Amino acid sequence: MSAVAEVIVIGGGLAGLAAAAALGGAGHRVRVLESRPFLGGRATSYEIGDAETIDNCQHILLRCCVNLLDFYKRLGVDGDIVFHRQFHFIEPGGRRSVLRAGVLPRPAHFAESFLGLRFLNLQEKLAVMRAIQAVSREYFRRDDLDRITMLDWLREQRQPRRALDRFWGPVLVSAVNEELDRMAARHGLQVFQLGFLARRDSYEMGVPAVPLGQLYRSEAWQRLGNVEIHTRTPVERVMIEDDAVKAVVVGGEELRADHYVCALPFERVAGVAPELGVDVSAFEHSPITGIHLWFDRPVTDLPHAALLDRTIQWMFNKDRGRAVQLVVSASRSLVAMARGDVIALALRELAEFFPMVREAKLEKAHVVKEVRATFSARPGLEVLRPVARTQVPNLFLAGDWTRSGWPATMEGAVRSGYLAAEAVAEATGEARGFVLQDIG
Ligand SMILES: Cc1cc2nc3c(=O)[nH]c(=O)nc-3n(C[C@H](O)[C@H](O)[C@H](O)COP(=O)(O)OP(=O)(O)OC[C@H]3O[C@@H](n4cnc5c(N)ncnc54)[C@H](O)[C@@H]3O)c2cc1C
Repeated sequence: MSAVAEVIVIGGGLAGLAAAAALGGAGHRVRVLESRPFLGGRATSYEIGDAETIDNCQHILLRCCVNLLDFYKRLGVDGDIVFHRQFHFIEPGGRRSVLRAGVLPRPAHFAESFLGLRFLNLQEKLAVMRAIQAVSREYFRRDDLDRITMLDWLREQRQPRRALDRFWGPVLVSAVNEELDRMAARHGLQVFQLGFLARRDSYEMGVPAVPLGQLYRSEAWQRLGNVEIHTRTPVERVMIEDDAVKAVVVGGEELRADHYVCALPFERVAGVAPELGVDVSAFEHSPITGIHLWFDRPVTDLPHAALLDRTIQWMFNKDRGRAVQLVVSASRSLVAMARGDVIALALRELAEFFPMVREAKLEKAHVVKEVRATFSARPGLEVLRPVARTQVPNLFLAGDWTRSGWPATMEGAVRSGYLAAEAVAEATGEARGFVLQDIG
């Protein structure tokens, strides 16, 4: 028989918050313990010097992120996400192309705009179209996609160099936060299968219309009633005795519950729960760099764009063109570069795409180098990602690095939280399905 359980969730990032929302919504009493003064972990926003609130880095989602959208719905903030139906690509010099679903039925819905892209020639486009057909055939059938890199797979598909550099790279490096020669092919195919082929609208790009931190605002949690949020509450230790968690230690005090969800990044788990013996030695980080620039006048009229052939990969328009946020995924080349050099590089490159940058005055700049942005989704890692259940019956794992089936993304984090919530519910004698299956 099911019973109302007391649950402690350690970590108020998306994984922990999703577990809390699911369990709280199912009637359990949940306490979230978060070390920082705000929620959202890596997907958050904060104030910089002059009362300007910025996102840690631009975060986007696609409509195929069904669990993330379900989580936003639970919090009543799904209306804060604005969906865009067009992907803009720009070449140095400013020539633009647009990718969008057209009138043809799925899976040919992109054919019209794809054939119109100006940055690939016809032969390159035909090669890409052949490979995209192979995605549908191979994603569900091949069992070695976790063992080879995306570049291996693209070479099998005989993709020309420019198609790698101007199409596969720009889409996948940002989606998976890893280079084509380092990411497992499974994740690359997954992005195209779920994001571009599964449904006509699954590619639509969601951009939060409010700072990320506002998505987890306190009114949103009041809807759920059963969830208490405690920020500035770092958990020092998970105490495991006689094969069960006895308590967690916060400020020297022991807090107890029936079940515990540990939703920390992989590099933090051993420090907080050493007896759990989770082996994370196979995990490595992949960095992301965000560059925020404020100008004295608008420099672009586009809402966002993939910038081809340069270091900067994406531009997002933040204030009618006067402020832009630039993103570089898998940004190893920028990690050791001085802040001033990163800004100079960004301005130089941006001017090649948007000539107005040359005339505009830069008023302010802010660089966020997230060296530990995500785990590197390399071949061979999937089987080493731990599942929610641990050998300690009342302790469950969540986090974008656990085995969610997705790379390190907001969707992956929310899925992992829902999977942990399902395992907790089952331990209380209740069979609950919180995870929504992938579309398509
Ligand atoms: C720069 C950047 C850009 C990204 N862009 C995208 C994007 O566009 N789209 C996308 O889908 N994903 C993106 N991601 C990935 C996404 O942000 C993460 O995959 C996701 O937010 C991870 O959530 P999590 O809950 O697993 O971990 P985290 O967000 O790391 O949450 C863990 C939480 O635990 C807390 N904590 C740590 N130690 C303790 C302790 N001892 N006690 C209590 N609490 C503790 C931390 O403060 C944190 O809040 C990006 C990530 C970064 C860094």
